Amino acid sequence: MNQYQDLAFVLFYEEAGEADRRYFLFTQNYGKISLLAKGSRKVLSKLAGCLEPPALVKVVWSIVHQPRLISAVEEELFPVIKKNPAALSLFLSLLKQVDEWTILNQAEPQLWLLLYNVLWWGEKNVAHNPEIIEFLRYYFPAQLLKITGFAPLLDVCAVCGSSQSLSHFSWSKRGVVCSLHYQKGDIVLSKKQRKILQALFQLPLSAFRKPATVKEILKEKIFLQLFFTKFTSLIKSDIM
Ligand SMILES: [Zn+2]
Repeated sequence: MNQYQDLAFVLFYEEAGEADRRYFLFTQNYGKISLLAKGSRKVLSKLAGCLEPPALVKVVWSIVHQPRLISAVEEELFPVIKKNPAALSLFLSLLKQVDEWTILNQAEPQLWLLLYNVLWWGEKNVAHNPEIIEFLRYYFPAQLLKITGFAPLLDVCAVCGSSQSLSHFSWSKRGVVCSLHYQKGDIVLSKKQRKILQALFQLPLSAFRKPATVKEILKEKIFLQLFFTKFTSLIKSDIM
């Protein structure tokens, strides 16, 4: 039997024809896969509860004719996140990013682990520290860019390699530049802002356990929002 089994996050699903549904899952060992769930709505409705994103499921599928969902058993349904509209909206947007940055049938173990860690962290902490929602809005894309090889240069000047007087961020150079090499259009980057970017791109989630650390980072929320919107769209225009 051509049957496979793996742990998977449900990214999203769409109706397929009158009775079927197509699920897009992000598996631990096979990357993103697309599976057709055949059958009447009644049959599907038994499965549907555990396949509502975000959800971690143990999934079995076959590839006899086309990849087809056989069964799914819940591992974690993230009830705390689902009960919190702001958290749910954030995590759905992270799942969407995973979908955007991955192609079918290509294993992405680091990205899988990132999603795993972030979802569990959210589930355990969002009720008593809702600020992590805003924090993950920046931490997740930073880590995603790092994993995909598109992290900006933050430690030395992108032009001369100097680690002294790094004063600006250059969109065209995709990195920090020193006071001798900044050009028109580059943005001023304070020492604190650079340190925050370094932390978001370079540190594991465990470095942000203290609510005070998250609070400190979010003082630069306006800058972070601008930075990630612009930087991510530049990288996307490079590769897509
Ligand atoms: Zn320089």
